[in-house]
Amino acid sequence: MVEKLTHIFYHPLSLEHDTGYGHPERADRIRALLQHLELTGLKEHCEWKTPEPAELDSILSNHGLSYIETVRELAESGGGHFDADTVISEKSYEAALRSSGACIQAIDTVCQGEAPNAFCMNRPPGHHARPYTAMGFCLYNTIAIGARHALKAHNLERVFIFDWDVHHGNGTQESFYEDASVYFCSIHQSPLYPGTGHPSETGVGRGEGSTLNLTVSSGTGRDVYESFMTERVLPAMRNFKPELIMVSAGFDAHRRDPLAGVQLEDEDFGMLTRYVLEAANDLCEGRVVSVLEGGYDLQGFSGGVEQHLKEMLAV
Ligand SMILES: [Zn+2]
Repeated sequence: MVEKLTHIFYHPLSLEHDTGYGHPERADRIRALLQHLELTGLKEHCEWKTPEPAELDSILSNHGLSYIETVRELAESGGGHFDADTVISEKSYEAALRSSGACIQAIDTVCQGEAPNAFCMNRPPGHHARPYTAMGFCLYNTIAIGARHALKAHNLERVFIFDWDVHHGNGTQESFYEDASVYFCSIHQSPLYPGTGHPSETGVGRGEGSTLNLTVSSGTGRDVYESFMTERVLPAMRNFKPELIMVSAGFDAHRRDPLAGVQLEDEDFGMLTRYVLEAANDLCEGRVVSVLEGGYDLQGFSGGVEQHLKEMLAV
C-alpha cells in the first residue's frame, strides 16, 4: 500500500514577488523555511507539488475584474506600490496566480482523497485582500478563492475557515460575511492592524452566526489559545459540521515576531494543529487544507511551520 503523505504545494515564483529592501513580507521567509525543512529532514516526508496558475474565473469568483486587471497591469509595467505596505513587482501577478492555484489544487487533492491534508507554501499571502482592493501585503485572497472553488467544484455545502494569523483576516471575513456556507473564525491580537474583527462582528443576513472573532491582547500565551480552541473554536466546528476545514496559517503570533506581541512558542502551533486535525477527523474525514499567511521572524516562522507540518504528517 502506498502511504498517503501531506502534500506541499510550492512554486518558485513565490521568491520572485519582490517587496523591496527591508519589507517584512519578503522572499527570505520562504528561503529560510525551505532550508529549515531540509535540515530537519521534514522535506522528504512530504510530497512536493508544483501548482499551475489559477484560471481567471477562479480569481473572479472573489474579486472584481477591474481590480484583477489593475494588479496585472501594474506588474506588467514593472511594478509599484499599491498602498504604503503592499508592493507589486514584475512577477507579483504570476506569483499571486500560483498562490491561488496552489490552494485550488490542494483542495482538489484533499477532496479527491489523494492526500489526507495539504499545505500551501506560497507568497504573496491573501487574507487581508478585499474583493476590490489589495491590502496588508495581500493581493488576491487565496483562501477565499480556494473556499469558493471547494463549494463549486466539489459540491460542498459547508467549509470552515480557521484563521490563526495574529492579524484579523478582514478580507476573508468580508467575502463570506453574508454567506452561511463558509464559516469564518479568527483568533487575532486586538488592538492591532487592520483594526477589524471585533467579537460583535458575527455575520449578517444569511451569514448571521457564521463569523466568530476571538481577540487576544499583546502578551497572551498558550493557555488562552488552548482554552479558545476547546471552548470556542472546536464547538463552533462541531456545530457547523464542515465538509472541509481550511486554515489561514500565519505564524506571526510567535513570541519572536516583530509585528505583534502574542507569545506563542514553536510547539503551540503544533497544539493548534492537533486540535484542528482532531476536529477534522471527527467531522470531515480529516480533510484539512492549510494556507500560509504571515510570520516575519525567520527563526520563529520556520519553527512554527515545522511543528504545524509535523502534526499534519503525524511524524
Ligand atoms: Zn499577520
